[in-house]
Amino acid sequence: MRVVVTGGAGFLGSHLCEKLLSRGDEVVCLDNLITGSEANLEPCLAHPCFQFVRVDVTEFLSVDGAVDVVFHLASPASPVDYLKFPIQTLKVGSLGTHKALGLARAKGARFLLASTSEVYGDPAVHPQTEAYWGHVNPVGRRGCYDEAKRFAEAMVMAYHRFHGLATRIARIFNTYGPRMRLDDGRVLPHFIRLALAGEDLTVYGDGQQTRSFCYVDDLIEGLCRLLASEESEPVNIGNPEEVTVQAFAEEVIRVVGARSRVRLVPKPPGYEDDPRRRRPDISKARRILGWEPRISRREGLARTIDFVRKRGM
Ligand code: UDP
Repeated sequence: MRVVVTGGAGFLGSHLCEKLLSRGDEVVCLDNLITGSEANLEPCLAHPCFQFVRVDVTEFLSVDGAVDVVFHLASPASPVDYLKFPIQTLKVGSLGTHKALGLARAKGARFLLASTSEVYGDPAVHPQTEAYWGHVNPVGRRGCYDEAKRFAEAMVMAYHRFHGLATRIARIFNTYGPRMRLDDGRVLPHFIRLALAGEDLTVYGDGQQTRSFCYVDDLIEGLCRLLASEESEPVNIGNPEEVTVQAFAEEVIRVVGARSRVRLVPKPPGYEDDPRRRRPDISKARRILGWEPRISRREGLARTIDFVRKRGM
């Protein structure tokens, strides 16, 4: 297959490109590199079936030749990044999704949107099922990401219903692994950086908020299975093992073997609507994709920390 990956130089995108190449696909990676980097594509760049195009996907998209699949992953995705790029985040979720859908329609390609658990906002339903409509503050600082992705889902469903496009929507929960930027502000890279430097790990608020972390290889497998399925309604892809941020910090200290301690600090600006609890209900993915995560947090953390140690800070 010939596959276009928007945001292909990002954390998830680069792992997806690698997986597609390894199964024999031809990959066209589109990225404007505002949060992604060419260094992430190092394993792909020399591959004869790989092409990288530096482009902003909110502009008209032109790709020569046949395209069988469009994976639309482009977007800043960490709170720190989308607070820094709020307008680009809104544009890529809205205009970028429209352009990527237009490309898929022109080529008769299958389309997959990387959506997010943020569509559930600070959820009033726990764990979150796909049927839950969410609890989002549109004018809060996270609103630029949450509402862009909610708009993107609506746009995808409109292309599916109106144009009959074969579309898929993955609601991706917190994912981690090698190639997360250590300065992207997300909790794990930040904790790893602090632990390796022997500094205290800063836990925001009371530390009792929860997240459920999925290792990147499991996530990519879930996306590929969803693409191959016939499901056009959203599907949660994530790891249902839930942990408080405080306990997670203690785990990172243990796995790194650091002398650091956990320090509770006030939430920084931008974290006012920090979701209190988050855990995917993955019954649907289990049932229709035969998918569930296989890599434990212990194993995933060990691999990620190992990667950071080898690459250096
Ligand atoms: N967090 C924290 N310390 C940090 C960074 C994040 O306690 O140094 C918390 C943050 O308040 C949130 C959780 O960790 O409750 C996950 O944050 P992240 O930015 O990774 O992603 P989110 O799930 O909020 O999109």
